[in-house]
Amino acid sequence: MEMLVNTRMHRRNFQKLALALALPAPLALAALSGRSAGIALAQATEPADTPLLAPTPVCGDDDDLAATLPQTAGPFYTPDTPERRSLLEPRMPGTRLVVSGYVYSTKCQPIPGALLDFWQADDAGAYDNQGYRLRGHQFADEDGRFELETIVPGLYPGRTRHIHAIAQAPDQPILITQLYFPDEPANAADSIFNPALVMDIQQAEDGEAAFFTFVLASG
Ligand code: FE
Repeated sequence: MEMLVNTRMHRRNFQKLALALALPAPLALAALSGRSAGIALAQATEPADTPLLAPTPVCGDDDDLAATLPQTAGPFYTPDTPERRSLLEPRMPGTRLVVSGYVYSTKCQPIPGALLDFWQADDAGAYDNQGYRLRGHQFADEDGRFELETIVPGLYPGRTRHIHAIAQAPDQPILITQLYFPDEPANAADSIFNPALVMDIQQAEDGEAAFFTFVLASG
């Protein structure tokens, strides 16, 4: 078993090296950093001094990315959210969390201008169903990158810790999904939880940094 794992690791690293050699410098660095798309990030082990940069997906010539899985929206979505990258408010309790990453197509192309709409519970596990607290949308930049500044959501009965998200490429269908946290005791008992949607989390100076790559079906 151990040998099988090692063989896979070597093959993967070799593929990364071969890919990195053929890429421009920034992409090559990303390919060699040991990180990959959010779909596989939970398996990555990072050294403590790794810079907190969102990883770019690693793609080969015929290596399409798997689309991010859809999930239920749940009962607490509110439309027409404000456009903002930070959901933080003065004196908002909770652990600060920055979620960053990219929006890519299954053809491994970044999607500039992709819409992302996030909503989540507060530190006590409550949603604001009257206003827009901890709700907001944004658009990916010219590299398909996004960054969300928020807090770690609290737990509420029946669910593990999660952030709701909508992702949509311009003029394409909407993807509704949820992002999860690794090593959460409640993950195993949550029937909606899916390990493919676990973010890569690192401890940051003032909270946590999470990474996730949304992959949208190419139109
Ligand atoms: Fe929820």
